[in-house]
Amino acid sequence: MNWRIRPLLLGEAEVPNVLDVFWSLSTDRGRSSVPILGFLLISPGGEPVVVDCGMRDPKRAVDVHRLGPHACSPEQSLHAQLALHGVKPADVKTLILTHLHYDHAGQCAQLPSARIVVQRTELMAAAAPMGPSALSIGGKSLFYDRADVAELVDPLWDRVDLIEGDVTLLPGLDCVLYADSHTPGHQCIYVQTASGTAAIVGDIARKVDLNIGQAIPPGIYYDLEKMRRALADIGRRAGVVLPTHDWDTMERGKIG
Ligand SMILES: [Zn+2]
Repeated sequence: MNWRIRPLLLGEAEVPNVLDVFWSLSTDRGRSSVPILGFLLISPGGEPVVVDCGMRDPKRAVDVHRLGPHACSPEQSLHAQLALHGVKPADVKTLILTHLHYDHAGQCAQLPSARIVVQRTELMAAAAPMGPSALSIGGKSLFYDRADVAELVDPLWDRVDLIEGDVTLLPGLDCVLYADSHTPGHQCIYVQTASGTAAIVGDIARKVDLNIGQAIPPGIYYDLEKMRRALADIGRRAGVVLPTHDWDTMERGKIG
């Protein structure tokens, strides 16, 4: 069962480089523009699946999460990015969310026919995040957007498919929970392709060489030991690792 993978460029964000590394050890004070990616997966039968759907509104990233400038051009809309591959939003019957941060779960309503697959613990954490209001970035909502959570628990609730732990969603498509890694209920999507197993890792890894190759965890994690084990497990299981916020993913992620 070999799936094809196509990265979707759903926006850009300016963020501190310190997010790439275990933050208390980093001396890098620079900032970089990073992509906000989703992924289109196409089954051998032609069925489209989307993993992560980008942000609701670039302005909210600044106003709500106190981050640097974010942008989403018309060409980077979910609709336009799917159209590049001949897919209409209503064609997508499955949307998988790696986690519920604002830049991954902001446009669920744009896919009107999709069941929305998310770990139950992630929705719980997003509804009542532990972020302190004094935190200079992320703030009290800690990168979860109340509007996204509200949408999932009310108007979209009938389409939300809460899963618990590791689940084979479709042949060749596995959701694996890495609890308390980047977020409390973050999952990784393992995809069987003609080039072997690819891992769509969300934000568990930000840079493959740094976080997987050198085993240096990225800057945001809930439990450092669980994060380290998650990175090692991903490195063992996947031939290709695809982080959300690395420009390299745009090319490496075109598989099949
Ligand atoms: Zn992210």
